[in-house]
Amino acid sequence: MLRSVILAAARSDRVERLVETAPVSRDVVRRYVAGAAVDDALRISRDLVDQGLAVSLDYLGEDTTSPEQAEQTRQSYLELLAALSAAGLCPPTEVSIKLSALGQMFDEKLAYSYAREICQAATNAGTTVTVDMEDHTTTDSTLELLMQLRKDFPDTGAVLQAYLRRTEADCRELSGPGSRVRLCKGAYSEPESVAFQSRLDVDRSYVRCLNILMAGEGHPMIATHDPRLVSIAEDRVRWFDRTPDSYEFQMLYGIRPHEQRRLADAGHTMRIYVPYGVQWYGYLMRRLAERPANLTFFLRSLGTR
Ligand code: FAD
Repeated sequence: MLRSVILAAARSDRVERLVETAPVSRDVVRRYVAGAAVDDALRISRDLVDQGLAVSLDYLGEDTTSPEQAEQTRQSYLELLAALSAAGLCPPTEVSIKLSALGQMFDEKLAYSYAREICQAATNAGTTVTVDMEDHTTTDSTLELLMQLRKDFPDTGAVLQAYLRRTEADCRELSGPGSRVRLCKGAYSEPESVAFQSRLDVDRSYVRCLNILMAGEGHPMIATHDPRLVSIAEDRVRWFDRTPDSYEFQMLYGIRPHEQRRLADAGHTMRIYVPYGVQWYGYLMRRLAERPANLTFFLRSLGTR
């Protein structure tokens, strides 16, 4: 219930204005976001890479409604990739993009052409792109654009959300040779007609999807902080005889850092998804919705500055 309320607030312009203009403690945002500028993204990436972790950088922004905003997102990614390459961070740093930030909502062709340019820049820099998945109304369009991108950039990563009823079938479709697929639970508020509603059903779906991807010929990217699912995934790595370069774990910056270290120390590739930029509102609200206990911390901070 609280999760749905927070996710509804994530889509409300009024609440966004209220939260963004409130004296939100910088600590709350900093817990999940690297900072506002490219330099912040580079500094945090360097720090994580020096600790033996891989990184996926996300320039914050979504639901773009104007061509100017989409162009600005494209430009930011091109600058980011040039800076990462110059800093010698590609690989193990890649980038994650949201098609809605590139204009998918009002011009799919534009979003596709910008995504292509970003994929080309990533290839030139020696790294890859993963296309984040957003709410279910965009799934078909996102997967279609992803398949187009993969014709020229076969390393482009997909994201599948275990809470969607369709995802087992999508996993089968996307488990072919070389296919990079990030499997997550899903972060949006979705209706029962398309998504499992209970935690147990989502977790069961996650395991079924994980089994398909691990048995397949692709490169599964296991994106979860859930201790039970991490343990099941470690078991599947052994069961399917997966070599460390044939799969990876992924977690979000600021969440379970000790577990991130433990997995890396155990010999798994551990990639940290690091967002940066000023448009942190939607991202932060989804993180609060995942763990309503964080809300207390957040609300307290509203009154402490
Ligand atoms: P949960 O059951 O939510 O959490 C398990 C445990 O992890 C919790 O008990 C808690 O200890 C810890 N935890 C989880 N969330 C938090 C938090 N916010 N603060 C503090 N502790 C927490 N979703 C999408 O819809 N599209 C995407 O493209 C996408 N990309 C992602 C990329 C990565 C690398 C990761 C890790 C997640 C991504 N997600 C994405 C989010 C994902 O769908 C979930 O919403 C999120 O990961 C929480 O689910 P969980 O599997 O960690 O399990």
